Amino acid sequence: MRYISTRGQAPALNFEDVLLAGLASDGGLYVPENLPRFTQEEIASWAGLPYHELAFRVMRPFVAGSISDADFKKILEETYATGPDGVFAHAAVAPLRQLDSNEWVLELFHGPTLAFKDFALQLLGRLLDHFLVKRGERVVIMGATSGDTGSAAIEGCKACENVDIFIMHPHNRVSEVQRRQMTTLLGENIHNIAIEGNFDDCQEMVKASFADQGFLKGTRLVAVNSINWARIMAQIVYYFHAALQLGGPARSVAFSVPTGNFGDIFAGYLARNMGLPVSQLIVATNRNDILHRFMSGNRYDKDTLHPTLSPSMDIMVSSNFERLLFDLHGRSGAEVARLMDGFKASGKLAVEDERWTEARRLFDSLAVDDAQTCATIAEVFASTGEVLDPHTAIGVRAARECRRSLAIPMVILGTAHPVKFPDAVLQAGVGRELELPAHLGDLLQRPERCTVLANDLQTVQDFVAAHGNRGKPL
Ligand SMILES: *Cc1c(COP(=O)(O)O)cnc(C)c1O
Repeated sequence: MRYISTRGQAPALNFEDVLLAGLASDGGLYVPENLPRFTQEEIASWAGLPYHELAFRVMRPFVAGSISDADFKKILEETYATGPDGVFAHAAVAPLRQLDSNEWVLELFHGPTLAFKDFALQLLGRLLDHFLVKRGERVVIMGATSGDTGSAAIEGCKACENVDIFIMHPHNRVSEVQRRQMTTLLGENIHNIAIEGNFDDCQEMVKASFADQGFLKGTRLVAVNSINWARIMAQIVYYFHAALQLGGPARSVAFSVPTGNFGDIFAGYLARNMGLPVSQLIVATNRNDILHRFMSGNRYDKDTLHPTLSPSMDIMVSSNFERLLFDLHGRSGAEVARLMDGFKASGKLAVEDERWTEARRLFDSLAVDDAQTCATIAEVFASTGEVLDPHTAIGVRAARECRRSLAIPMVILGTAHPVKFPDAVLQAGVGRELELPAHLGDLLQRPERCTVLANDLQTVQDFVAAHGNRGKPL
């Protein structure tokens, strides 16, 4: 499989190089040159497969030519292992829980950090290690996090022999559970940095480090944010998994997806293009609704950031939206480059009417504010006794308002465990104590390791250079 850039200028790469590249050299994002398509008979024959075996069948075409079937199978078996020594705490890996008639939550929060990002980052870490050991190369990962991504990335990479990971979070501005999920992982290749600044400061320093890598003395810098193609790829699998549980592909299924950077729902869009019958894809956003404004009014205009009860969806722009623009414009890199240059200059983007009509045919959308989020948590708790996290609650609200057919199963992606967001649950008036799952039961007692650094690029880069080789200088 070859991958091409959404801006048309960077060289085509194979899977291994795309995994290590992150952003393309022309500023675009990598996408498969040709999307694999499965027949209905093929998909039907996968019913009842364990998660890791389904994952092998869905993802195999994407990695073809870069990794042997035997190695890929082994990695997937480890990634999606369950049981006492496994990675995922539920035997079904991604179980469905029924909320109402023909309405289900796909629980994607049984991984080590209790959010769906584990599905992709557990795989990404293992794939990185596989290729780096083969190449005899070491890399440094730098990332910024306001919460979920950092812990999932560290969990995914903690066992990697050839990776040192540096994750910056804004000092004193992430919740205690979220901080501890990062800082209690103590490997010598794990480096948590609390920056005396905000999330944007952290992200700017990551960007600046990618732009000028001299301080790394030749060590490669790798991105693990949602622009990395391997993350999207891993997320395609659970759309197939859910649909097969609910009678697919003979029956079509609808999905409602709590959305920020457009990575998760883009995976659903790809699943549909690969042959999975999906009748509806709903983009569910919080008040940071740039995607809803595009879908409902052809206005992809940058706004200020609004902090909400669903912080993992607090974004100003959606980085993976560019991948959709590429398809909407007949895969013309020149068109996408023109649109993105305009967006960079003006903060505004609109597409031609017929392209926008096509986007509306592909997606429905809704923006849900904090009050509606709390009301939905309360409503679902009253009717089922289930406690939803605020992100999943936004998905449920959007599913209920945008649903086109009661006869078609509606699946809401359950993106996080409610215990990660106790404030929202409390505000919703749910009077049930939430407990940390067994594997995190002593999280609040574990020792932490974290370095507080000034909000200064040079200081951060000096720190990375001094510790980037399993705690020793590069
Ligand atoms: C990251 C995240 C999202 C948003 O996913 P995108 O792929 O960025 O659209 C939603 N909910 C939770 C809990 C997340 O961590």
